[in-house]
Amino acid sequence: MNNPFDLTGRVAIVTGANTGIGQGLAVALAAAGADVALVGRSPADETAEQVRALGRRAALVRADLSTIAPVQDVVDQTLGELGGLDILVNNAGIIRRADAVDFSEEDWDAVVDTNLKSVFFLCQAAGRHLIAQGRGKIINIASMLSFQGGIRVPSYTASKSGVAGLTKLLANEWAARGINVNAIAPGYIATNNTAALQADENRNRQIMERIPAGRWGDPSDLGGAAVFLASSASDYVQGHVLAVDGGWLAR
Ligand code: NAP
Repeated sequence: MNNPFDLTGRVAIVTGANTGIGQGLAVALAAAGADVALVGRSPADETAEQVRALGRRAALVRADLSTIAPVQDVVDQTLGELGGLDILVNNAGIIRRADAVDFSEEDWDAVVDTNLKSVFFLCQAAGRHLIAQGRGKIINIASMLSFQGGIRVPSYTASKSGVAGLTKLLANEWAARGINVNAIAPGYIATNNTAALQADENRNRQIMERIPAGRWGDPSDLGGAAVFLASSASDYVQGHVLAVDGGWLAR
């Protein structure tokens, strides 16, 4: 029987693949058989090594996604170097923290442009190719703040709530064209993005006490959800935001 989770012969783009969650997702997709374009503003050499060690191809695509200028190039370079495109994972993202009363326009624009605007236009550029081939998978990386308000992160909450809405809109428009658009909402995952929280003894304890699983997540904890949403196993799953959070939202 064919393995519905097998990604052999598929080509994936993963943005922000040099570190953290993006690295974990790229390696998980490669372990399931996919070749991967590693997209980001910093070189993803370490991730490329891990992908190649699994016997898959890796392409390094340099792109600063703080503007939408590189999005078409990202798709074209992937097609040029890896000969196809089947899966897009929008993972690159940033966070800025300040009280809402003091929050600057710069911190608003930087986060919304990277986390939401570039995500939409990369979906559009990849979507045109996927629609033309009649098949494809898009996975956007959302957040607990796609469901909750958070505190001192107004542009991040707006962007990640926007990612959840955008995921549903694109699913509505593209489901009948053979494209699945879904999202993964990670809980508290130990990465650079959360280093400040992990280092703050008080916050770290409060967070751990509230997670039913009793521990921070690791980027590898998200791999199974990504392979599921990238594979034919999820062909009838549309517009879903899948929480991988150790039970945080159930609390
Ligand atoms: P991370 O370790 O800081 O990684 C973020 C990635 O995004 C890095 O590869 C970074 O590249 C890339 N990136 C940032 N700005 C970019 C830009 N302008 N152009 C291209 N790439 C850019 O954080 P992470 O925790 O793995 O976060 C990955 C995603 O998961 C983000 O969307 C984040 O919001 C989301 N998330 C994280 C958590 C968590 O608990 N960690 C929870 C929910 C959601 P550089 O190395 O060049 O900066």
